[in-house]
Amino acid sequence: MTEEMHVDYCIVGGGIAGVILASKLAASGKKIVVVEHGTRFSEADRAAMLSRGQETLNDYADYNDDVDASATTPHSSASADDEVIEWSNQRLFGVGGTALHFEGIMARPVEDDLRVRTLYGYGRDWPLTYDELEPWLLRAEREIGVAGGTDNPYASARSDSFPMPAHEFSYFDREIMGPAMQALGIVGHSCPRAIASVPYRGRSQCLACRACKFCPSGARYSPDRVHVPTLDDLPNVSILDNVSLRRLETGPRGDRIIAAQAIRSEDETPLVVMADRFVLAMGGVETPRMLMLSADGDTHQAGLGNMGGQLGRWFNDHLNPYVTFDVGRHVGSRLGFETMISDHFRATGDRRETPSFIIFTAPAMDWFPIGIEATSWTTQNDVLSLADLRQSLPQFATLATMTEVEGHGVLELDDSVRDSFGSPVAKVTMRLTDWDRRAPAKLGELAPQLAEAMGAANVSEVSAASYPGFHPSGATAMAYSPDDGVCDPDLQVFGLDNLYLVSNSVFPHMGANPPTLTIAALALRLATHLEGESAL
Ligand SMILES: Cc1cc2nc3c(=O)[nH]c(=O)nc-3n(C[C@H](O)[C@H](O)[C@H](O)COP(=O)(O)OP(=O)(O)OC[C@H]3O[C@@H](n4cnc5c(N)ncnc54)[C@H](O)[C@@H]3O)c2cc1C
Ligand code: SF4
Repeated sequence: MTEEMHVDYCIVGGGIAGVILASKLAASGKKIVVVEHGTRFSEADRAAMLSRGQETLNDYADYNDDVDASATTPHSSASADDEVIEWSNQRLFGVGGTALHFEGIMARPVEDDLRVRTLYGYGRDWPLTYDELEPWLLRAEREIGVAGGTDNPYASARSDSFPMPAHEFSYFDREIMGPAMQALGIVGHSCPRAIASVPYRGRSQCLACRACKFCPSGARYSPDRVHVPTLDDLPNVSILDNVSLRRLETGPRGDRIIAAQAIRSEDETPLVVMADRFVLAMGGVETPRMLMLSADGDTHQAGLGNMGGQLGRWFNDHLNPYVTFDVGRHVGSRLGFETMISDHFRATGDRRETPSFIIFTAPAMDWFPIGIEATSWTTQNDVLSLADLRQSLPQFATLATMTEVEGHGVLELDDSVRDSFGSPVAKVTMRLTDWDRRAPAKLGELAPQLAEAMGAANVSEVSAASYPGFHPSGATAMAYSPDDGVCDPDLQVFGLDNLYLVSNSVFPHMGANPPTLTIAALALRLATHLEGESAL
């Protein structure tokens, strides 16, 4: 039997975007439902994952260990010359979404990131300026609880300070990497983190215990520990876990959504949610996929919001090339997260020539899989035995980068592969341009110079270009017109009065910064657009 539900707002996706939006809209007293495909994770589940990670001597136990991600998005990718570069799939289905296992780097965009077409001739401009976004970034930092400092000389202007002071630099950052960067004229500065450096709104300060994915103390922000409990206490909000949206239904005139057709995964009971407004907050892959799956036989034959043929185009993600240094002396151990990053190459380079990138460094200790499956490890062009590895690792450090990519990826439906409900999965094809490849090449020039400056014995080759799949974005971009994107600057889908999107899929372009602070800022801005100042 089909269940029916009538609400004011139907939000699909219980990740950071969906739960922040719900918690702000809830102040209106209106009835809200959050539809979430995945399950709830308990503190007991978290403790079990933590001990599983400890038993295997590595930190690879994860919330989605039992989920086959390729069943929902096959790895399908190619570079410009059709060499296959795998796009991985690290998103997490569950109440709290991918931020359950994120690293919590809360970097802001820089002003130029939002105007790359005008300033440098590639990518797409945002229909928002940095000044328009900045107040929302500040609110998002407070909402999430971000620790950060004022020592970043490359940052764009901020209207107020971080809600918490920055974490102190680790031994390695303070004594080895910081001075080496300084010798090359690069400022290494604190890394804004969604990890409390002092007690914050009921959260413990960081206790430096190095299990950040599961964070026993609760210092690291996780949606299920901060926003979900508040929502669970509100009489006007329901979070429906294990309920999967299958399609949105358009009305007879094609200008509104009239229902969300969903299924309870335990017993396959159909559930129809009728709402005044619908918001998709399903992440960078599932948001565009749902607009495609909801194509109707009439006004929206090519998918919702796709009158300009923009849906699924410009899919983007970061590249993360890295190098490993054998520093030749003990580098200390990792705090659990990198304390120093540098935005130097976001601010000083000529972006027409080379993509911008962030660099961050850490002792390699506890970073690589030295678990029971690992019997050898390739680095420094040699294969080390596990015994050698245990001996050498305390003096190894990594320098990783997060590089901007122009965004020539395409996301489409793959009719040859179906999910467990029978719907085509999303297929992602990335294409690397020569310009995209210049950032890893730049790292190849920089690494030996840094090695020399820190007196390192050796430095590895730059790792092969790969997409770790942390930041899928761009496939439902915001724009002034449907010829350039899928939703307008207020995140309303073109041609549909009551359908909104909030995800990094709405980013017209992604600079080198990780996206989540900006996603949260857009969620807060959307709540205010929908409900006015009362949502603040
Ligand atoms: C390992 C890792 C580390 C990261 N570290 C950082 C970092 O340091 N800094 C940073 O800024 N970002 C980081 N990220 C990225 C960050 O986690 C994401 O940008 C962010 O969590 C996205 O939030 P979201 O709410 O937009 O989407 P998601 O968290 O993906 O939430 C979408 C939700 O929608 C649900 N959903 C999907 N389909 C359906 C359906 N059909 N019906 C109902 N519900 C559905 C999903 O189950 C999911 O819960 C990291 C990501 C990974 C994987
Ligand atoms: S080091 Fe990581 S796990 Fe430990 S308290 Fe800090 S954030 Fe949490």
